[in-house]
Amino acid sequence: MTIDTRIFRITDNNFGGVIKETSQIIQEGGTVAFPTETVYGLGADALNPDAVLKIFEAKGRPADNPLIVHVADRKQCTELAQDIPEMASRLMDAFWPGPLTLILKCKTIIPDITTGGLDTVGLRMPDDRIALELIRCAGTPIAAPSANRSGYPSPTNAEHVVHDLEGRIDAVIDGGNVNIGVESTVVDMTANVPVILRPGNISAEDIKRCIGAVQIGYTDRRMSGDERVRSPGMKYTHYSPKADVILVEGELSEVADAITALIADHYGKGMHVGLLVSNEVARIVSADATFLLGKGQDPSQAARSIFMGLRHLDNENMDLIIVDGSIKNEGVGTAVFNRLRKAADRIIKI
Ligand code: AMP
Ligand code: MG
Repeated sequence: MTIDTRIFRITDNNFGGVIKETSQIIQEGGTVAFPTETVYGLGADALNPDAVLKIFEAKGRPADNPLIVHVADRKQCTELAQDIPEMASRLMDAFWPGPLTLILKCKTIIPDITTGGLDTVGLRMPDDRIALELIRCAGTPIAAPSANRSGYPSPTNAEHVVHDLEGRIDAVIDGGNVNIGVESTVVDMTANVPVILRPGNISAEDIKRCIGAVQIGYTDRRMSGDERVRSPGMKYTHYSPKADVILVEGELSEVADAITALIADHYGKGMHVGLLVSNEVARIVSADATFLLGKGQDPSQAARSIFMGLRHLDNENMDLIIVDGSIKNEGVGTAVFNRLRKAADRIIKI
């Protein structure tokens, strides 16, 4: 597969022109990667099965893993979903546009390939000017999973997308680094009590405050192939760089001690060791390369950095990446730990 991938960098005065050209590519059944507030998405017309097939091919994504459909307004949402429960409307009022995907019963207008053959669809209204204008101008909902090769860390800037997908997609809109850095919270609204299938920047507490109750339906473990899952995506490897990843969880000083011991051990084996650590731990330990996660007490900084850090250390050809798990596990920290635990080949709990 070699397509000439066009790269559109947004500047102060070309916004309208870029949106016009890229929305045309969507209308013609092509693929366009674009920024959202969470991560970059790889978009195609959600109602055009041939276009959606191109997303699966470009990413190497398993066909039974459904795509999130992005909308620009509530009217589009009612065209795609049926029996929208009152609780879902309340969540939309509270959090849309924003990093919240709602699983709803779908209408037949959505092709099977988009939903992975399910009778439900994941809908989200992104909180990003480029994403919203692209959808509006294309005049159709846009199916968009993260714009990375399947299994690899999600992209948080256009360089990551180009690294993974150049020659495999029609266009990339470069809107700089994303704000949040981890993918949307996914909530299944088809059960009596809604179920969180993936943690994100909107926390369980935020959702409870809005609708009273919510269940946790995800695990942070890598799942084995034959386990029953509520969301097809849970079965697959996620967020994994080429290097081995060890996550060390515990209090700051013990984590720093354990990382020091791990570095010595792996240096003894002649391995190149990279660190993905908080500013505080970085003051105590050092190795061949270090990528900072920001202040350990502010998990939103880690959220913005984890995927970029895993990719950076992979590009530096580290054999092993040691990750600092002393970051605060609250709010978006829950999503940070979910991604890191899935990325890890080994987790050490102190
Ligand atoms: P990605 O687009 O790569 O961020 O992944 C989207 C996630 O949402 C995957 O884990 C999907 O399995 C999940 N998802 C999308 N649509 C549905 C659906 N209708 N039912 C359950 N999970 C879904
Ligand atoms: Mg993804």
